[in-house]
Amino acid sequence: MRRIAAIAAAKVTAALSQRLKMGGGTALPGLIAERIDPNIVPEMARRLGQGSVIVTGTNGKTTTARLLRGIVRAAGLRPVANRAGSNLMRGIAAALAQAAGLDGGFAGAKRRLGLFEVDEATVPEAARALRPRLVLFTNLFRDQLDRYGEVEYVAAVWRDAVRTLGDSATVVLNADDPSIAALARVATGQALFYGVEDTSRASEGLEHAADARWCSSCGSEFVYSEVFYGHLGHWHCGANCGVARRSPLVVATRIEMEPEGTRLMITMPGGDVSARLPLTGLYNAYNVLAAVAAAVALGIEPEAIERGLGAFTAAFGRQERLTVGGRRVQVILAKNPAGLNEVLRTITADGEEKDVALFLNDGIADGRDVSWIWDVDFDLLAGKVRSLTVSGNRAWDMALRLKYAGLDSLVEVEEDTATALRRALRATPEDGNLYVVPTYTAMLQVRELLARWARQPAFWETA
Ligand SMILES: [Zn+2]
Repeated sequence: MRRIAAIAAAKVTAALSQRLKMGGGTALPGLIAERIDPNIVPEMARRLGQGSVIVTGTNGKTTTARLLRGIVRAAGLRPVANRAGSNLMRGIAAALAQAAGLDGGFAGAKRRLGLFEVDEATVPEAARALRPRLVLFTNLFRDQLDRYGEVEYVAAVWRDAVRTLGDSATVVLNADDPSIAALARVATGQALFYGVEDTSRASEGLEHAADARWCSSCGSEFVYSEVFYGHLGHWHCGANCGVARRSPLVVATRIEMEPEGTRLMITMPGGDVSARLPLTGLYNAYNVLAAVAAAVALGIEPEAIERGLGAFTAAFGRQERLTVGGRRVQVILAKNPAGLNEVLRTITADGEEKDVALFLNDGIADGRDVSWIWDVDFDLLAGKVRSLTVSGNRAWDMALRLKYAGLDSLVEVEEDTATALRRALRATPEDGNLYVVPTYTAMLQVRELLARWARQPAFWETA
């Protein structure tokens, strides 16, 4: 009875908040459902015939979960997934309630697979409630320090969660991230590794944003023969205590960057997968690789994986293109040093001069502490930008950081989001590309403005 009331209440709330345009409406329905029936997530998850998958990590959760969803569908399964960004328990509860019938069951339950993007700190609770058959870890970077404390704290939380998974659960791990790879040591079930072996993608020298420098076993510094980005690469303990990158089962053997996307060759047991995706940057190659590795662990055939990837369109807001007043605008979310470094590297890769707008906010969803910008290699932009507009409520912090990178002669500071965006568009030549790189809350504002302006040509000339 309780469960039926919870599901009904969630459905009604979701429908109402959609009608009243209160946004996507996932937090409130989930909260209400959990309040009425605190056991709704474990009880509903048990009814998913194919079990559940958790996708977590600092960067790439949304894109990876989205890619995996497409693959799973191509394999004939019907995923039950939470919305992008609704990655706490209430988001999972809302997704389950929405997908269920009023009797608490799922139509076509046999083919139903839970596929949930889960916030780093929510992994233990989600794992207890969902009893997942698979947990996929993407990477562990410094992110929103004031929310979670040290990277080490998140690693410890994950270790505890992995210990309790039980031996029928598989963990899918990034072999190139030492903090993620270390989780294999506490797993009681199977561990499947994925990694990059196209060493032409390695960057020169170790970056500033190294979040996993010391061996968790003996404390010595890691040594890298290849660094791909941040602390991802081919690594081993400098004291040779035996802690080292393991050979992955699912391997990116070739990664080719194109201006509008990426071509990948992925090798796995039972065949190869080649894919071309409308996503740029090495970090997205890792997202594709992670999704493919999870699909392999789920027993999905290479042919279905390839079809699933083919049907992919870029995840909400992570990387999207719009045309505004003849300028092509690409919005790329960046929220931590490693992510932003990789974005800067991608933008500047072809050596041509670029127009760039950086938006730095310090809302809760952005991380209140903006000191992470000091770990970003803005030097990458030197000699490669034509205009550099800086905005957001912490625009002046960003401007100061850019001054130290020697870019102050290019920087235009404008705190107001709409005005800044207009200026940046004006600075971009017609038919040119503007790269807009916001933090999370800034992304929401920027998207809304751009979507509105995209429908009216040359809006700034009349504004
Ligand atoms: Zn060691």
